Amino acid sequence: MNNLPVVVIGAGPVGLAAAAHLYDRNEDFLVLERGTKAASHIREWGHVQLFSPWEFNIDAVAKKLLQTTDWTEPELEKLPTGKELVEDYLEPLSALPQFTGKILYQAEVMAVSRKNKDKMKSTFREETPFVIYYRLNGKVTKVEAKAVIDASGTWSNPNPPFADGVWRMDEWKERITTIIPNVKEEVDKFKNKHVAVIGSGHSALNTLIDLTAIKEIYPETKLSWIVRKQQVQEAFGGEEADALAARGALGTKTHQLVDNGIVETYTGFYVEDIIEEGNSFTIRSTEGSEVVSVDEIIVNTGARPDFSYVSELRLDNDPAVESTPLLAPLIDPNLHSCGTVRPHGEKELRHPEPGFYIAGVKSYGRAPTFLLTTGYEQVRSIVAYLAGDIEAATKVQLKLPETGVCKVSPTPKEFQIIGVTSNGSSNSCCGC
Ligand SMILES: Cc1cc2nc3c(=O)[nH]c(=O)nc-3n(C[C@H](O)[C@H](O)[C@H](O)COP(=O)(O)OP(=O)(O)OC[C@H]3O[C@@H](n4cnc5c(N)ncnc54)[C@H](O)[C@@H]3O)c2cc1C
Repeated sequence: MNNLPVVVIGAGPVGLAAAAHLYDRNEDFLVLERGTKAASHIREWGHVQLFSPWEFNIDAVAKKLLQTTDWTEPELEKLPTGKELVEDYLEPLSALPQFTGKILYQAEVMAVSRKNKDKMKSTFREETPFVIYYRLNGKVTKVEAKAVIDASGTWSNPNPPFADGVWRMDEWKERITTIIPNVKEEVDKFKNKHVAVIGSGHSALNTLIDLTAIKEIYPETKLSWIVRKQQVQEAFGGEEADALAARGALGTKTHQLVDNGIVETYTGFYVEDIIEEGNSFTIRSTEGSEVVSVDEIIVNTGARPDFSYVSELRLDNDPAVESTPLLAPLIDPNLHSCGTVRPHGEKELRHPEPGFYIAGVKSYGRAPTFLLTTGYEQVRSIVAYLAGDIEAATKVQLKLPETGVCKVSPTPKEFQIIGVTSNGSSNSCCGC
């Protein structure tokens, strides 16, 4: 089995970083990417500016490989857009001569199993190759692997608007927007309309800020913001206390929009139903409140992992977070908000299926606040382990910029902000 490659699913930033580490450790590898080019998911939000500067967005081994080419390293303190992240880093990375023939595009993974062993068969699993089925040019093909790193992200599997988490009808995905729209290119869709944004994460804040630019030119535009949080302040995060200034600024700007009445906010609003009436919608909460005459609905409620193609593998996921059980308590938003995740690597990401790992944003399951730098450390550790360097795999190091917010749960129902920490302060209540 040792002569088989490690298969990486997804050529996003974490999948490509995994490839760089595998190359660096002389491990054979093959990356299977569904899209026609690397970083297909990020291309869909290319207009959005990242809140982490370049310093945090480039994997160290990938950088080492790029420095052997004519690549120009971006200025480390600058904030790239998604498009710049792709053009100035991920495209040159995927085009490295060392990766020639090692990344297959338009190769969508359909299933992963063990050779001649379904999930029920217990004997010699760790000595049995993985078999990965993927669709290439319309044809189902298979490849064997000694290990699999699933870095396929969650972007294409958005959460629904409904508080119970159920997508009731697939048609809803067509009728409402579930991405961060490029509003500058879709002015006609939103101008002078009543637009409701559902969700309270960074994507929702980005969307609201972008829509405000339309409202400035077309004042009839009405913006409603629907959040489950009881206090809208919780959505603003650490603001100026955030160690990532651009992430803090998202909260500060949205705070101003709310204070100035530019955005009408509906808090404690658990979406129960969306009723279509002619060309407009009524959004109804579980308690019967309504937001009426809505023309456009934008759902920015996060995304969730798709485990359908790995259902023949033995996985162990936390029942709530959908990450591995060792990682879950480190990232569960019910317990944790400061943005710092204790260093974790191969050991915390292990499943009962030896040699199979989920890395990158998918490793976080449904939890928010994933940062690229976390994913890079995950794959460094996993690849070190696969290469037999247990010492390097165990020595995980991660220093993440804190959000500047800590919270605890005084009641099971809602969490309350109890303190805003200054960068590096010791009164963190997340135990970080
Ligand atoms: C709007 C937005 C802004 C963000 N800003 C920041 C930021 O400022 N800083 C930061 O650190 N993080 C940020 N993140 C979080 C995170 O870094 C990104 O989500 C990042 O793209 C995660 O990288 P990934 O490699 O894990 O997954 P992805 O980038 O999602 O890549 C997954 C790849 O897998 C492919 N794929 C999917 N399914 C299959 C399949 N079945 N077969 C083959 N290939 C498949 C996809 O086509 C894609 O290319 C942001 C996220 C979003 C959505």
